[in-house]
Parts: sequence; C-alpha cells; structure tokens
Amino acid sequence: MDWRSHAIIGTLLAALALYLMNVKFESIIFLSIFAGFSALLPDIDHKMSKIRSIADKSFVLFALVYSYNSCSNCQLLEIGKTAILLIGIYFLIITFLRPRHRGITHSLFFVVIYGAILYLLFNFNLAIAGIIGYASHLIADKEIKLI
Ligand SMILES: [Zn+2]
Repeated sequence: MDWRSHAIIGTLLAALALYLMNVKFESIIFLSIFAGFSALLPDIDHKMSKIRSIADKSFVLFALVYSYNSCSNCQLLEIGKTAILLIGIYFLIITFLRPRHRGITHSLFFVVIYGAILYLLFNFNLAIAGIIGYASHLIADKEIKLI
C-alpha cells in the first residue's frame, strides 16, 4: 500500500473516532491531519518510504539549525563541521542499526510506546489520534504483531 492510502485511511479513521468522542470540529481537523502523518511513521524502517525521505531531509535541516544555534561565535567552517558530523551520525545509525522492514516498527508494542509518548508530551486527544493513525497502518498492512 502506498503512503497516500495509509495517510487517507489514518486521517478518516481518526476523524470518525474523534467525532464519536464529541471532540470539537476545529480540533478534529488538526488531530485528523496529525493521525494521517502518524499513519506514515511505521514505514520509517523502509529506505524508499515517504516518511523516510521526509525524515532524512528534516534531519539535515535540523543538523544545520542546531549547529548554527549551538555556537554563537563560530566561523562558518566550524558550523559546517558540526552539521556534517551530526548528519554522518544520523546516516550511520539509520544505515547500520536499521530494523528490518515490517519489524518492530510494525508492532503493537510501538503503538503503545508512541501513544504513551504523545500522551506524556501533549494530551489525551492527540495521543488517541496518533494511536489510531499508527494502528491503521498496521491493520492496512495486515501486519499486526505484539513485538
Ligand atoms: Zn508498512
């Protein structure tokens, strides 16, 4: 299944669930879009996936901003060295410690972890939207395992 289908299924399922929970309309729109994004996350373990390409580009941007912010008096060369070091570490991790496709990121264990993180960092409704989006990916893939 392609990333668009996963995003649409996650968005619609979350919108339905949030509507049934009597969440107000403006929140349903934002939370459903977040659920659609969450539905892409399990495929971070696949190097050709949409979420992986977003993560790769975002990390390069993050490394540049972080390097620039972490050093106020540095020369451009210093900032560049830090950014390249961070980007190198990210790609080493993602290349060599990458879980196999449809492995642990496609498990109920990760759904629970993801929901718990969202609940602790944000709130109940966002956690529900994230859980529905993430879990919808596993159901659509017919790849539901405990761990
Ligand atoms: Zn998948």
